[in-house]
Amino acid sequence: MQKGLVVITGASSGFGAEIAKLFNKDGYPMLLLGRRVEKIKELPLNFENVMVEKVDVTDFNSFESAIRKAEDKFGKTDLLVNNAGLMLLGNVITQDPNEWQTMLNTNVMGVLNGTKIVLDGMKSRKHGTIINMSSIAGFKAFADHAAYVASKFGVHGLSETIRTEVSSSNVRVSLVAPGAAETELLTHVTDKNALSDYNSWKESMGGITLNPVHVAESVKFIYDMPQEVNIREIDIATTAQES
Ligand code: NDP
Repeated sequence: MQKGLVVITGASSGFGAEIAKLFNKDGYPMLLLGRRVEKIKELPLNFENVMVEKVDVTDFNSFESAIRKAEDKFGKTDLLVNNAGLMLLGNVITQDPNEWQTMLNTNVMGVLNGTKIVLDGMKSRKHGTIINMSSIAGFKAFADHAAYVASKFGVHGLSETIRTEVSSSNVRVSLVAPGAAETELLTHVTDKNALSDYNSWKESMGGITLNPVHVAESVKFIYDMPQEVNIREIDIATTAQES
């Protein structure tokens, strides 16, 4: 059977890049999205059936155009991984509200945008899977994470809502909620105190955080289940992460 199109947002680094490698190994046609497309093009992939498009997930129109273009070439989207996101740590008293807005726009609006673009087609085909990248911060509080936590609680909430709305159409909505992992996520934090507290917290767990490969494997595991089985959520962190 021909493999359906896999769309991955935020494929230029971290989890997204590892997810792309896993699906590429299995020969899936893929659309890889991000703003730094040069980084995606440098990934060790077989690019024969891979399309790379520069898309900011907060821009609905360019997001939709990229998906339609890939669908014209590879067929309809069967898996969307809404992975793009960012974490700007900071205390609400001191943090620039623009940072809250950036996180809410990317982490919540980006996921809603992607979902809206593919969901109707999946419903009418009675087939398809959407996997959203949330976080342990999607159901637990962490200091200096208020706006990030708000965004990831949002991802949990919208995922569960949409899951119930499309379950009778045989469409799966699922999420992966990782703990602290080694990616580029922390490189965008501007609050030096919040960053140093985060790093001290990491040190208190032995300095070892999650290998992104295992997050990618979780995504693949969810997708590889038969369509009638929905792993609704995987929470994954290092054994040493206590919180
Ligand atoms: P990275 O910073 O390594 O990757 C983030 C990815 O998101 C990049 O590919 C980036 O691409 C993309 N991205 C960010 N903003 C946008 C945007 N506006 N439009 C399109 N793409 C965007 O971090 P991670 O791999 O860790 O992050 C992936 C997801 O995992 C995020 O949702 C994050 O919140 C979540 N997460 C991470 C954890 C961790 O500890 N690392 C723990 C729990 C959850 P580009 O800059 O090229 O656009």
